[in-house]
Amino acid sequence: MSFATGIGWDSHRLVEGRPLILGGVRIEHDRGPAGHSDADVLCHAVIDALLGAACLGDIGEQFPDDDPRWKDADSLTLLSSVCSRLAAEGWTVNNVDASVLLERPKLSPHREAMRAGLAGAIAIPPERVNVKATTGEGMGFVGREEGVGALAVATIMRG
Ligand code: MG
Repeated sequence: MSFATGIGWDSHRLVEGRPLILGGVRIEHDRGPAGHSDADVLCHAVIDALLGAACLGDIGEQFPDDDPRWKDADSLTLLSSVCSRLAAEGWTVNNVDASVLLERPKLSPHREAMRAGLAGAIAIPPERVNVKATTGEGMGFVGREEGVGALAVATIMRG
């Protein structure tokens, strides 16, 4: 059995009039991330971690943001299609760990739903997906509520 690990990072600017969607979960808030797709930074970081582990480039190559097919795209669907691509190359996903950087609102009430959303799209049990959340403590673009970021690590395996 061989194992491979990848990392992913994403950030989007927060603007008024956009929904806040993280791990496929719509969270009530007065602003949301700007972007071509649904701008789900958590999904995007996980996608890049998986693509990185499989040495398949990055999300921008797979889903160019000037391609009208991905306008307002559901990022859980993009995540599922990346997992299908990995499966076609013989990979299964062992686990995913992610951190969301957001000043407010508190994400802990949504943690289990985000795990379930990601796990469903990846097609692994939620026990193998972890989602953490932290703030910027008033510092930097997260602390000033200018943006939201997410960092992810994924390990994949094939025999
Ligand atoms: Mg993104």
